[in-house]
Amino acid sequence: MSTPRVVVLAGGVGGSKFVLGVRAALRARGVTDTASALTVVVNTGDDLWLSGVRLQPDVDSVTYALAGVNDTERGWGRQGDTERVNHELQEWGAGWPWFTLGDLDLGTHLARTGWLREGLTPTEVLERMSRRWALGARLLPMTDAEVDTVVLLDGDRRLHFQEWWTRHRAALAPIGFDNPGIEAAVPAPGVVEAIAAADVVLVAPSNPVVSIGPILAVPGVREALATTPAPVVGVSPIIGGRVVRGMADVCLSAIGVETSAAAVAAHYGARRDGGVLDAWLIAEEDEAAATEVGGLGIRPLVTPLWMTDAARSSALAEAALAAALPASREGGFSPATDGPDDVTTRA
Ligand code: GDP
Ligand code: CA
Repeated sequence: MSTPRVVVLAGGVGGSKFVLGVRAALRARGVTDTASALTVVVNTGDDLWLSGVRLQPDVDSVTYALAGVNDTERGWGRQGDTERVNHELQEWGAGWPWFTLGDLDLGTHLARTGWLREGLTPTEVLERMSRRWALGARLLPMTDAEVDTVVLLDGDRRLHFQEWWTRHRAALAPIGFDNPGIEAAVPAPGVVEAIAAADVVLVAPSNPVVSIGPILAVPGVREALATTPAPVVGVSPIIGGRVVRGMADVCLSAIGVETSAAAVAAHYGARRDGGVLDAWLIAEEDEAAATEVGGLGIRPLVTPLWMTDAARSSALAEAALAAALPASREGGFSPATDGPDDVTTRA
């Protein structure tokens, strides 16, 4: 039995639920050393400087979820966190009144900022932070460059993504998104290598515009996806024509993409036509979209997409893995021998 090499492209909350599923699915297949098998490339477009510290919301969401210390009810931050420091910052009039920094979370940001100031790269900082817990995965930022997402509004107004998302709840109609400086950025060390050496690359059901979009916008990432021998399998964040939670529909509308499983597949594009996908998992609720997805040159796979508990997330991840890596009778992996075709499979 050989250890498979799986790469996941991921954002924050949706991304981390899926990554937990992938780790569980690998374990269920008998992979004990998932840290060697699973590499997660995380969006850093959400990152920001606030009150003198560097925040990496998506990186922290994935880290905390894998460590089992995330607040599952609230959906972000640390379990059992308090807000004493945040309260004090408000008294000083520092930071953003609409953006809560938990005390434990601030510990993370202080540690990270200290190491950045000592000269470590974001990749090195994340590697160091990953040592605290047995995450069972290797985490890489998409890039070491600071390319924080900016929301473009009419009248030449620009807001940091976090201000638009958290303060305005995405209510100000955007006309686009930008990651200033990304043209000159390069993928973080290990990203291109992991994609090139992968047996399968999975695109998590994360926000296609502001989570997966920035990862694909780092020069070199699309090229790595185009040339890897590994199949690229995506999971739709849209179920029954709606976003499951969050405001991804506003982001999609802003770039002229309809909120549907087929439209998001078309936005990513078929790999054979210069896009990124070989296969696309769509929900049973969207089964009617399978023909359209197949017509794009992307293999549609109809399967339950709800990640409402650990078992469902693991079953979804297994369906994504199975699209590329059928489980062998010994419980190990064998790479798929047949190429992508237009068959709709019910998992
Ligand atoms: P964020 O960075 O915290 O906004 O999280 P992500 O970008 O990683 O994921 C957000 C996306 O996850 C949303 O657009 C949702 O549609 C999607 N999502 C959330 N829960 C589920 C789920 O149970 N199943 C699927 N397929 N998508 C989900
Ligand atoms: Ca995010």
